[in-house]
Amino acid sequence: MGRKKYIEADIVIAGGGPGGCEIARRFSLAGKRAVLIEKGGYGTRMLGTLIGAASRLEVRPKISSMPVLSTIEGAAIPLCSGVGGGTLLYCGSAFLPEREFWLQQGIDLPRSIIDEGVRETRVSETPDEFIGAGSKRLQRAALELGFPWEPLKRHIDFNRCVPGCDRCTYGCSRGAKWTGLEYAEEAVRHGARILDRCRVEGLLVEGGRCGGAVARDMFGGRYEVRAPLTVCSAGGIGTALLLRGAGIEGAGTTFAGDPTGFTFGFLAGERGNSHEHNMPMGYKDRDNGVLFSSMLAPQVAWIFQVLGGLFRRSPGRIFSYRTALGLFVKVSDQDRGSILKNGAITKTFTDRDRERIRYGQSINEKILIRAGCDPDSICHTELTLGHPGQTAPLGRVLKSTLETEIQSLYCCDTSVMPEAPGMPPALSVVVLAKYLSGILLDNS
Ligand SMILES: Cc1cc2nc3c(=O)[nH]c(=O)nc-3n(C[C@H](O)[C@H](O)[C@H](O)COP(=O)(O)OP(=O)(O)OC[C@H]3O[C@@H](n4cnc5c(N)ncnc54)[C@H](O)[C@@H]3O)c2cc1C
Repeated sequence: MGRKKYIEADIVIAGGGPGGCEIARRFSLAGKRAVLIEKGGYGTRMLGTLIGAASRLEVRPKISSMPVLSTIEGAAIPLCSGVGGGTLLYCGSAFLPEREFWLQQGIDLPRSIIDEGVRETRVSETPDEFIGAGSKRLQRAALELGFPWEPLKRHIDFNRCVPGCDRCTYGCSRGAKWTGLEYAEEAVRHGARILDRCRVEGLLVEGGRCGGAVARDMFGGRYEVRAPLTVCSAGGIGTALLLRGAGIEGAGTTFAGDPTGFTFGFLAGERGNSHEHNMPMGYKDRDNGVLFSSMLAPQVAWIFQVLGGLFRRSPGRIFSYRTALGLFVKVSDQDRGSILKNGAITKTFTDRDRERIRYGQSINEKILIRAGCDPDSICHTELTLGHPGQTAPLGRVLKSTLETEIQSLYCCDTSVMPEAPGMPPALSVVVLAKYLSGILLDNS
Protein backbone atom coordinates (compact mmCIF):
# COMPACT_ATOMS: atom_id res chain seq x y z
CA MET A 1 0.00 0.00 0.00
CA GLY A 2 1.41 3.44 -1.02
CA ARG A 3 2.01 6.32 1.35
CA LYS A 4 -0.87 8.62 2.09
CA LYS A 5 -0.82 11.90 0.16
CA TYR A 6 -1.71 15.06 2.05
CA ILE A 7 -3.39 17.97 0.29
CA GLU A 8 -4.28 21.36 1.75
CA ALA A 9 -7.19 23.26 0.21
CA ASP A 10 -9.70 26.02 0.92
CA ILE A 11 -12.62 23.72 0.17
CA VAL A 12 -12.99 20.00 -0.46
CA ILE A 13 -15.98 18.68 -2.36
CA ALA A 14 -17.00 15.06 -1.91
CA GLY A 15 -18.70 13.82 -5.10
CA GLY A 16 -18.84 15.43 -8.53
CA GLY A 17 -22.56 16.08 -8.89
CA PRO A 18 -23.50 19.30 -10.71
CA GLY A 19 -23.72 21.21 -7.43
CA GLY A 20 -20.19 20.24 -6.47
CA CYS A 21 -18.87 21.14 -9.92
CA GLU A 22 -20.39 24.62 -9.66
CA ILE A 23 -18.98 25.16 -6.16
CA ALA A 24 -15.51 24.09 -7.38
CA ARG A 25 -15.84 26.55 -10.25
CA ARG A 26 -17.00 29.44 -8.07
CA PHE A 27 -14.18 28.89 -5.59
CA SER A 28 -11.49 28.58 -8.24
CA LEU A 29 -12.79 31.71 -10.01
CA ALA A 30 -12.42 33.50 -6.68
CA GLY A 31 -8.78 32.38 -6.51
CA LYS A 32 -9.39 29.73 -3.83
CA ARG A 33 -7.96 26.22 -3.82
CA ALA A 34 -10.78 23.79 -4.53
CA VAL A 35 -10.38 20.00 -4.55
CA LEU A 36 -13.20 17.86 -5.94
CA ILE A 37 -13.12 14.11 -5.30
CA GLU A 38 -15.20 11.89 -7.58
CA LYS A 39 -15.37 8.11 -7.61
CA GLY A 40 -16.13 8.03 -11.35
CA GLY A 41 -14.02 9.29 -14.24
CA TYR A 42 -13.31 12.79 -15.55
CA GLY A 43 -14.05 13.52 -19.18
CA THR A 44 -16.29 12.73 -22.11
CA ARG A 45 -14.72 9.47 -23.29
CA MET A 46 -17.23 7.47 -25.37
CA LEU A 47 -20.14 9.68 -24.32
CA GLY A 48 -22.93 9.37 -26.86
CA THR A 49 -22.50 5.60 -27.20
CA LEU A 50 -24.16 2.73 -25.42
CA ILE A 51 -20.79 1.60 -24.03
CA GLY A 52 -20.03 5.12 -22.81
CA ALA A 53 -23.38 5.23 -20.99
CA ALA A 54 -23.19 1.71 -19.59
CA SER A 55 -19.67 2.27 -18.26
CA ARG A 56 -20.92 5.23 -16.22
CA LEU A 57 -24.00 3.53 -14.78
CA GLU A 58 -23.83 2.10 -11.30
CA VAL A 59 -24.80 -1.51 -11.82
CA ARG A 60 -25.86 -4.14 -9.39
CA PRO A 61 -24.27 -7.54 -9.69
CA LYS A 62 -27.35 -9.45 -10.75
CA ILE A 63 -29.17 -9.98 -14.01
CA SER A 64 -32.50 -8.23 -14.05
CA SER A 65 -34.66 -6.29 -16.47
CA MET A 66 -32.83 -3.06 -15.50
CA PRO A 67 -29.10 -3.59 -14.98
CA VAL A 68 -28.79 -0.77 -12.45
CA LEU A 69 -28.80 -0.26 -8.71
CA SER A 70 -32.16 -0.99 -7.07
CA THR A 71 -33.98 -0.87 -3.77
CA ILE A 72 -34.43 -3.99 -1.68
CA GLU A 73 -38.03 -4.00 -2.91
CA GLY A 74 -36.86 -3.99 -6.54
CA ALA A 75 -37.36 -0.42 -7.85
CA ALA A 76 -34.48 0.53 -10.14
CA ILE A 77 -32.33 3.57 -9.30
CA PRO A 78 -30.39 4.68 -12.39
CA LEU A 79 -27.28 6.39 -11.01
CA CYS A 80 -24.44 7.76 -13.04
CA SER A 81 -20.83 8.16 -11.86
CA GLY A 82 -18.33 10.64 -13.17
CA VAL A 83 -17.48 14.31 -12.81
CA GLY A 84 -20.79 16.00 -13.66
CA GLY A 85 -22.75 13.22 -11.92
CA GLY A 86 -26.18 12.35 -13.28
CA THR A 87 -26.15 15.24 -15.75
CA LEU A 88 -23.75 13.24 -17.95
CA LEU A 89 -26.62 10.87 -18.82
CA TYR A 90 -29.69 12.87 -17.85
CA CYS A 91 -32.49 13.65 -20.31
CA GLY A 92 -31.72 17.36 -20.16
CA SER A 93 -35.19 18.41 -19.10
CA ALA A 94 -35.15 21.77 -17.29
CA PHE A 95 -37.49 22.93 -14.55
CA LEU A 96 -36.85 26.23 -12.82
CA PRO A 97 -36.67 26.22 -9.01
CA GLU A 98 -39.75 27.84 -7.49
CA ARG A 99 -38.76 30.73 -5.22
CA GLU A 100 -41.87 30.35 -3.01
CA PHE A 101 -41.03 26.72 -2.32
CA TRP A 102 -37.47 27.51 -1.22
CA LEU A 103 -38.59 30.54 0.76
CA GLN A 104 -40.68 28.21 2.91
CA GLN A 105 -37.39 26.47 3.79
CA GLY A 106 -35.77 29.74 4.77
CA ILE A 107 -33.84 30.05 1.50
CA ASP A 108 -34.35 33.25 -0.41
CA LEU A 109 -33.00 32.49 -3.87
CA PRO A 110 -32.27 35.79 -5.61
CA ARG A 111 -33.75 35.98 -9.10
CA SER A 112 -30.31 36.90 -10.40
CA ILE A 113 -28.84 33.49 -9.55
CA ILE A 114 -31.82 31.65 -11.02
CA ASP A 115 -31.37 33.68 -14.22
CA GLU A 116 -27.64 32.93 -14.18
CA GLY A 117 -28.32 29.20 -13.81
CA VAL A 118 -30.86 29.31 -16.64
CA ARG A 119 -28.39 31.08 -18.91
CA GLU A 120 -25.37 28.94 -18.11
CA THR A 121 -27.19 25.61 -18.31
CA ARG A 122 -28.67 26.57 -21.72
CA VAL A 123 -32.32 26.42 -20.76
CA SER A 124 -34.56 26.86 -23.77
CA GLU A 125 -37.95 25.66 -24.92
CA THR A 126 -38.02 22.74 -27.36
CA PRO A 127 -38.36 24.28 -30.84
CA ASP A 128 -41.09 22.94 -33.07
CA GLU A 129 -38.71 21.22 -35.51
CA PHE A 130 -37.38 19.10 -32.64
CA ILE A 131 -40.83 17.80 -31.76
CA GLY A 132 -41.36 14.60 -33.74
CA ALA A 133 -44.59 13.42 -35.37
CA GLY A 134 -45.27 10.85 -32.63
CA SER A 135 -44.82 13.45 -29.88
CA LYS A 136 -47.18 15.81 -31.71
CA ARG A 137 -49.69 13.01 -32.02
CA LEU A 138 -49.53 12.52 -28.24
CA GLN A 139 -49.90 16.25 -27.72
CA ARG A 140 -53.03 16.38 -29.90
CA ALA A 141 -54.56 13.50 -27.95
CA ALA A 142 -53.69 15.09 -24.59
CA LEU A 143 -55.13 18.47 -25.62
CA GLU A 144 -58.33 16.84 -26.87
CA LEU A 145 -58.69 15.24 -23.44
CA GLY A 146 -58.19 18.61 -21.77
CA PHE A 147 -54.60 18.25 -20.54
CA PRO A 148 -52.51 21.38 -21.22
CA TRP A 149 -49.67 19.53 -22.97
CA GLU A 150 -46.97 21.97 -24.09
CA PRO A 151 -43.31 22.11 -25.15
CA LEU A 152 -40.96 21.58 -22.21
CA LYS A 153 -37.78 23.42 -21.39
CA ARG A 154 -34.50 21.67 -22.02
CA HIS A 155 -30.84 22.14 -21.09
CA ILE A 156 -29.98 22.04 -24.77
CA ASP A 157 -28.34 24.33 -27.25
CA PHE A 158 -30.58 23.44 -30.17
CA ASN A 159 -28.13 24.99 -32.64
CA ARG A 160 -25.77 22.12 -31.84
CA CYS A 161 -28.43 19.39 -31.62
CA VAL A 162 -30.09 17.64 -34.56
CA PRO A 163 -33.82 16.88 -34.88
CA GLY A 164 -34.49 13.21 -34.23
CA CYS A 165 -31.51 12.69 -31.91
CA ASP A 166 -32.74 10.55 -29.02
CA ARG A 167 -29.34 10.09 -27.38
CA CYS A 168 -29.48 12.38 -24.33
CA THR A 169 -29.40 9.34 -22.04
CA TYR A 170 -26.29 7.97 -23.77
CA GLY A 171 -24.54 11.26 -23.06
CA CYS A 172 -24.29 13.98 -25.68
CA SER A 173 -21.39 13.69 -28.11
CA ARG A 174 -22.29 16.97 -29.86
CA GLY A 175 -21.84 19.16 -26.81
CA ALA A 176 -25.44 20.34 -27.23
CA LYS A 177 -26.66 19.17 -23.83
CA TRP A 178 -25.38 21.03 -20.79
CA THR A 179 -23.68 18.93 -18.12
CA GLY A 180 -22.02 19.70 -14.81
CA LEU A 181 -18.73 18.57 -16.35
CA GLU A 182 -18.58 21.96 -18.11
CA TYR A 183 -18.45 23.72 -14.74
CA ALA A 184 -15.73 21.31 -13.59
CA GLU A 185 -13.66 21.94 -16.71
CA GLU A 186 -13.83 25.67 -16.11
CA ALA A 187 -12.88 25.09 -12.48
CA VAL A 188 -9.80 23.12 -13.59
CA ARG A 189 -8.81 25.90 -16.01
CA HIS A 190 -8.81 28.21 -12.99
CA GLY A 191 -6.72 25.95 -10.80
CA ALA A 192 -9.16 23.52 -9.18
CA ARG A 193 -7.84 20.02 -8.60
CA ILE A 194 -9.92 16.97 -9.43
CA LEU A 195 -9.19 13.59 -7.92
CA ASP A 196 -11.17 11.29 -10.18
CA ARG A 197 -11.68 7.55 -9.85
CA CYS A 198 -11.21 8.28 -6.18
CA ARG A 199 -13.82 7.41 -3.58
CA VAL A 200 -14.35 9.51 -0.46
CA GLU A 201 -14.19 7.00 2.35
CA GLY A 202 -14.81 9.30 5.26
CA LEU A 203 -14.98 12.84 6.55
CA LEU A 204 -12.45 14.23 9.00
CA VAL A 205 -14.48 15.28 12.02
CA GLU A 206 -12.90 16.46 15.25
CA GLY A 207 -14.56 18.30 18.11
CA GLY A 208 -17.83 18.80 16.19
CA ARG A 209 -16.07 20.36 13.23
CA CYS A 210 -15.30 18.96 9.77
CA GLY A 211 -11.77 19.51 8.47
CA GLY A 212 -11.83 17.64 5.15
CA ALA A 213 -12.07 14.13 3.77
CA VAL A 214 -10.10 10.95 3.25
CA ALA A 215 -10.27 9.12 -0.04
CA ARG A 216 -8.82 6.16 -1.91
CA ASP A 217 -8.25 5.94 -5.64
CA MET A 218 -8.78 2.91 -7.88
CA PHE A 219 -5.14 1.84 -7.47
CA GLY A 220 -5.36 1.89 -3.68
CA GLY A 221 -3.64 5.30 -3.33
CA ARG A 222 -4.81 7.12 -0.21
CA TYR A 223 -5.45 10.85 0.15
CA GLU A 224 -6.14 13.13 3.07
CA VAL A 225 -7.49 16.47 1.93
CA ARG A 226 -7.61 19.07 4.68
CA ALA A 227 -9.79 22.15 4.25
CA PRO A 228 -11.76 24.52 6.48
CA LEU A 229 -14.88 23.84 4.35
CA THR A 230 -16.31 20.52 3.16
CA VAL A 231 -19.31 20.10 0.87
CA CYS A 232 -20.95 16.76 0.08
CA SER A 233 -22.22 16.61 -3.47
CA ALA A 234 -22.30 12.85 -3.71
CA GLY A 235 -26.02 12.54 -4.49
CA GLY A 236 -28.95 11.39 -2.37
CA ILE A 237 -27.36 8.06 -1.55
CA GLY A 238 -23.64 8.90 -1.49
CA THR A 239 -24.10 11.96 0.70
CA ALA A 240 -26.34 10.12 3.18
CA LEU A 241 -23.68 7.43 3.60
CA LEU A 242 -20.93 10.01 4.18
CA LEU A 243 -23.01 11.94 6.73
CA ARG A 244 -23.98 8.73 8.50
CA GLY A 245 -20.31 7.73 8.63
CA ALA A 246 -19.57 11.11 10.22
CA GLY A 247 -22.08 10.37 12.97
CA ILE A 248 -25.15 12.27 11.73
CA GLU A 249 -27.79 9.76 12.74
CA GLY A 250 -30.70 11.49 10.98
CA ALA A 251 -29.08 11.20 7.55
CA GLY A 252 -30.56 8.54 5.32
CA THR A 253 -33.55 7.86 7.55
CA THR A 254 -35.84 9.35 4.91
CA PHE A 255 -35.77 8.68 1.18
CA ALA A 256 -37.81 9.86 -1.79
CA GLY A 257 -37.10 9.21 -5.44
CA ASP A 258 -39.79 10.70 -7.70
CA PRO A 259 -41.03 7.27 -8.91
CA THR A 260 -41.40 7.23 -12.65
CA GLY A 261 -43.50 4.81 -14.64
CA PHE A 262 -43.55 4.53 -18.42
CA THR A 263 -46.63 3.51 -20.36
CA PHE A 264 -46.39 2.17 -23.90
CA GLY A 265 -48.98 1.49 -26.54
CA PHE A 266 -48.62 0.36 -30.12
CA LEU A 267 -50.03 1.82 -33.32
CA ALA A 268 -51.26 -0.34 -36.18
CA GLY A 269 -48.44 -0.03 -38.71
CA GLU A 270 -47.80 3.68 -38.12
CA ARG A 271 -44.66 5.04 -36.56
CA GLY A 272 -44.83 6.03 -32.88
CA ASN A 273 -42.35 8.34 -31.12
CA SER A 274 -39.27 6.16 -31.59
CA HIS A 275 -36.10 8.03 -32.66
CA GLU A 276 -37.54 11.36 -31.49
CA HIS A 277 -36.01 13.97 -29.24
CA ASN A 278 -36.36 13.12 -25.50
CA MET A 279 -39.00 14.78 -23.31
CA PRO A 280 -40.02 17.45 -25.83
CA MET A 281 -43.49 17.99 -24.38
CA GLY A 282 -45.62 17.30 -21.37
CA TYR A 283 -47.28 19.01 -18.46
CA LYS A 284 -47.03 19.37 -14.73
CA ASP A 285 -50.24 18.62 -12.89
CA ARG A 286 -49.57 20.47 -9.65
CA ASP A 287 -52.88 19.60 -8.02
CA ASN A 288 -52.12 15.90 -8.21
CA GLY A 289 -48.33 16.07 -7.72
CA VAL A 290 -47.48 14.43 -11.04
CA LEU A 291 -45.53 15.32 -14.18
CA PHE A 292 -46.26 13.88 -17.60
CA SER A 293 -43.99 13.79 -20.63
CA SER A 294 -43.70 11.97 -23.93
CA MET A 295 -40.57 9.90 -24.39
CA LEU A 296 -39.32 6.69 -25.91
CA ALA A 297 -35.81 5.70 -24.87
CA PRO A 298 -33.29 4.59 -27.53
CA GLN A 299 -34.04 1.05 -28.70
CA VAL A 300 -31.61 -0.95 -26.54
CA ALA A 301 -32.51 0.96 -23.39
CA TRP A 302 -36.20 0.52 -24.27
CA ILE A 303 -35.78 -3.23 -24.56
CA PHE A 304 -34.33 -3.31 -21.06
CA GLN A 305 -37.24 -1.18 -19.86
CA VAL A 306 -39.91 -3.53 -21.20
CA LEU A 307 -38.08 -6.82 -20.62
CA GLY A 308 -39.94 -7.59 -17.40
CA GLY A 309 -43.61 -6.76 -18.01
CA LEU A 310 -44.15 -6.53 -21.73
CA PHE A 311 -41.91 -9.42 -22.63
CA ARG A 312 -43.77 -11.77 -20.30
CA ARG A 313 -47.18 -10.63 -21.60
CA SER A 314 -46.55 -10.47 -25.32
CA PRO A 315 -42.95 -11.22 -26.28
CA GLY A 316 -43.56 -10.36 -29.95
CA ARG A 317 -44.05 -6.67 -29.04
CA ILE A 318 -40.40 -6.38 -28.19
CA PHE A 319 -39.79 -6.20 -31.96
CA SER A 320 -42.41 -3.43 -32.40
CA TYR A 321 -40.22 -0.53 -31.29
CA ARG A 322 -41.01 1.43 -34.48
CA THR A 323 -44.76 1.54 -33.78
CA ALA A 324 -44.46 2.14 -30.04
CA LEU A 325 -45.77 5.34 -28.50
CA GLY A 326 -44.39 6.08 -25.06
CA LEU A 327 -44.92 8.55 -22.28
CA PHE A 328 -44.23 8.61 -18.58
CA VAL A 329 -45.57 9.90 -15.34
CA LYS A 330 -43.29 11.12 -12.56
CA VAL A 331 -44.74 11.38 -9.08
CA SER A 332 -43.74 13.45 -6.08
CA ASP A 333 -43.59 10.70 -3.43
CA GLN A 334 -43.48 10.71 0.36
CA ASP A 335 -40.20 10.13 2.16
CA ARG A 336 -40.94 6.57 3.37
CA GLY A 337 -37.63 4.83 2.89
CA SER A 338 -34.08 4.76 4.16
CA ILE A 339 -30.47 3.99 3.41
CA LEU A 340 -29.28 1.13 5.60
CA LYS A 341 -25.84 1.02 7.22
CA ASN A 342 -24.58 -1.46 4.59
CA GLY A 343 -25.64 0.93 1.81
CA ALA A 344 -28.77 -1.02 0.82
CA ILE A 345 -31.83 1.10 0.12
CA THR A 346 -35.36 0.33 1.22
CA LYS A 347 -38.34 2.20 -0.21
CA THR A 348 -42.01 1.55 0.38
CA PHE A 349 -44.76 3.44 -1.39
CA THR A 350 -47.47 5.01 0.73
CA ASP A 351 -51.19 4.98 -0.13
CA ARG A 352 -50.80 8.54 -1.44
CA ASP A 353 -47.88 7.51 -3.65
CA ARG A 354 -49.84 4.57 -5.07
CA GLU A 355 -52.86 6.77 -5.66
CA ARG A 356 -50.72 9.27 -7.60
CA ILE A 357 -49.06 6.53 -9.64
CA ARG A 358 -52.43 4.93 -10.48
CA TYR A 359 -53.85 8.31 -11.42
CA GLY A 360 -50.89 9.09 -13.69
CA GLN A 361 -50.93 5.71 -15.37
CA SER A 362 -54.67 5.97 -16.04
CA ILE A 363 -54.15 9.35 -17.75
CA ASN A 364 -51.31 7.86 -19.80
CA GLU A 365 -53.62 5.07 -20.95
CA LYS A 366 -56.33 7.54 -21.96
CA ILE A 367 -53.86 9.61 -23.97
CA LEU A 368 -52.44 6.57 -25.76
CA ILE A 369 -55.88 5.23 -26.67
CA ARG A 370 -56.95 8.67 -27.88
CA ALA A 371 -53.74 8.80 -29.96
CA GLY A 372 -54.81 5.61 -31.73
CA CYS A 373 -53.09 2.81 -29.83
CA ASP A 374 -54.74 -0.56 -29.55
CA PRO A 375 -56.09 -0.58 -25.94
CA ASP A 376 -55.01 -4.23 -25.57
CA SER A 377 -51.44 -3.31 -26.43
CA ILE A 378 -50.98 -0.91 -23.53
CA CYS A 379 -48.49 -1.83 -20.83
CA HIS A 380 -46.83 -0.13 -17.89
CA THR A 381 -43.21 -0.61 -16.86
CA GLU A 382 -41.93 -1.14 -13.35
CA LEU A 383 -41.22 2.08 -11.45
CA THR A 384 -37.77 3.61 -11.41
CA LEU A 385 -36.50 6.14 -8.87
CA GLY A 386 -34.73 8.70 -11.03
CA HIS A 387 -34.14 11.39 -8.43
CA PRO A 388 -32.98 9.69 -5.23
CA GLY A 389 -32.92 12.30 -2.51
CA GLN A 390 -34.40 13.86 0.60
CA THR A 391 -31.91 11.90 2.66
CA ALA A 392 -30.46 14.96 4.43
CA PRO A 393 -33.51 17.20 4.19
CA LEU A 394 -33.47 20.90 4.91
CA GLY A 395 -35.12 21.69 8.20
CA ARG A 396 -34.37 18.26 9.64
CA VAL A 397 -30.73 17.39 8.91
CA LEU A 398 -29.66 20.73 7.42
CA LYS A 399 -29.95 24.37 8.41
CA SER A 400 -31.09 26.90 5.83
CA THR A 401 -27.41 27.57 5.11
CA LEU A 402 -27.19 23.91 3.97
CA GLU A 403 -24.86 23.25 6.92
CA THR A 404 -25.17 20.08 8.96
CA GLU A 405 -24.99 19.78 12.74
CA ILE A 406 -21.23 19.35 12.20
CA GLN A 407 -19.63 22.74 11.78
CA SER A 408 -18.18 23.52 8.32
CA LEU A 409 -19.83 20.46 6.73
CA TYR A 410 -22.37 21.32 4.04
CA CYS A 411 -24.47 19.44 1.47
CA CYS A 412 -25.45 20.45 -2.03
CA ASP A 413 -27.27 17.83 -4.09
CA THR A 414 -30.65 16.11 -4.12
CA SER A 415 -30.14 14.87 -0.54
CA VAL A 416 -31.10 18.36 0.68
CA MET A 417 -34.60 18.32 -0.84
CA PRO A 418 -37.16 19.02 1.90
CA GLU A 419 -39.75 17.10 -0.12
CA ALA A 420 -39.72 15.14 -3.34
CA PRO A 421 -39.70 17.69 -6.16
CA GLY A 422 -41.74 15.51 -8.55
CA MET A 423 -39.87 17.21 -11.36
CA PRO A 424 -36.33 17.11 -12.74
CA PRO A 425 -34.09 18.69 -10.07
CA ALA A 426 -30.72 19.38 -11.73
CA LEU A 427 -31.30 23.11 -12.18
CA SER A 428 -32.47 23.46 -8.57
CA VAL A 429 -29.23 21.80 -7.43
CA VAL A 430 -27.18 24.17 -9.60
CA VAL A 431 -29.00 27.23 -8.24
CA LEU A 432 -28.56 25.98 -4.66
CA ALA A 433 -24.83 25.60 -5.40
CA LYS A 434 -24.71 29.23 -6.48
CA TYR A 435 -26.56 30.23 -3.32
CA LEU A 436 -24.22 28.17 -1.10
CA SER A 437 -21.06 29.37 -2.88
CA GLY A 438 -22.18 32.95 -2.25
CA ILE A 439 -22.59 32.32 1.48
CA LEU A 440 -19.30 30.44 1.82
CA LEU A 441 -17.22 32.88 -0.23
CA ASP A 442 -18.67 35.86 1.65
CA ASN A 443 -17.61 34.26 4.93
CA SER A 444 -14.18 33.00 3.92
C1 LIG B 1 -31.18 8.60 -16.63
C2 LIG B 1 -31.39 9.89 -15.87
C3 LIG B 1 -32.16 10.90 -16.43
C4 LIG B 1 -32.33 12.11 -15.74
N1 LIG B 1 -33.00 13.13 -16.37
C5 LIG B 1 -33.04 14.35 -15.77
C6 LIG B 1 -33.56 15.48 -16.45
O1 LIG B 1 -34.01 15.39 -17.58
N2 LIG B 1 -33.51 16.67 -15.82
C7 LIG B 1 -33.02 16.82 -14.55
O2 LIG B 1 -33.04 17.93 -14.00
N3 LIG B 1 -32.53 15.76 -13.88
C8 LIG B 1 -32.50 14.54 -14.45
N4 LIG B 1 -31.93 13.49 -13.81
C9 LIG B 1 -31.44 13.68 -12.44
C10 LIG B 1 -30.16 14.50 -12.41
O3 LIG B 1 -29.16 13.87 -13.13
C11 LIG B 1 -29.73 14.72 -10.96
O4 LIG B 1 -30.80 15.23 -10.24
C12 LIG B 1 -28.58 15.70 -10.89
O5 LIG B 1 -27.45 15.13 -11.46
C13 LIG B 1 -28.30 16.11 -9.47
O6 LIG B 1 -28.00 14.98 -8.71
P1 LIG B 1 -27.11 15.03 -7.42
O7 LIG B 1 -26.35 16.28 -7.33
O8 LIG B 1 -27.95 14.66 -6.26
O9 LIG B 1 -26.09 13.83 -7.57
P2 LIG B 1 -25.45 13.11 -8.80
O10 LIG B 1 -25.64 13.87 -10.04
O11 LIG B 1 -25.91 11.70 -8.75
O12 LIG B 1 -23.89 13.15 -8.48
C14 LIG B 1 -23.29 12.50 -7.41
C15 LIG B 1 -21.86 12.18 -7.78
O13 LIG B 1 -21.16 11.82 -6.60
C16 LIG B 1 -20.35 10.68 -6.85
N5 LIG B 1 -20.13 9.98 -5.58
C17 LIG B 1 -21.05 9.35 -4.81
N6 LIG B 1 -20.48 8.87 -3.70
C18 LIG B 1 -19.16 9.21 -3.75
C19 LIG B 1 -18.04 8.99 -2.89
N7 LIG B 1 -18.16 8.33 -1.71
N8 LIG B 1 -16.85 9.48 -3.27
C20 LIG B 1 -16.70 10.15 -4.45
N9 LIG B 1 -17.72 10.38 -5.31
C21 LIG B 1 -18.95 9.92 -4.95
C22 LIG B 1 -21.12 9.89 -7.89
O14 LIG B 1 -20.27 9.04 -8.62
C23 LIG B 1 -21.73 11.01 -8.74
O15 LIG B 1 -20.90 11.35 -9.82
C24 LIG B 1 -31.75 12.28 -14.46
C25 LIG B 1 -31.00 11.24 -13.89
C26 LIG B 1 -30.80 10.07 -14.59
C27 LIG B 1 -29.92 9.00 -13.97
